[in-house]
Amino acid sequence: MRVVCAWCQKEGRPALLREEDSCDGSLESHGICDDHSVKLLHEIKMRLRQAWSLSLSEGAGVPL
Ligand SMILES: [Zn+2]
Repeated sequence: MRVVCAWCQKEGRPALLREEDSCDGSLESHGICDDHSVKLLHEIKMRLRQAWSLSLSEGAGVPL
């Protein structure tokens, strides 16, 4: 089974992460590479921060 990074695949980059010796050699499974997991975490952090500052400016902030 080939494990490929779904994000790399979308960007047309070499996406193969690893090959696993499980049942089907023709099967493809989606994972995420180190590059994209870092990018994704960063994006999530930015979005959380954005949502948090939005809710603060709306006066519905989280009590500290
Ligand atoms: Zn990737």
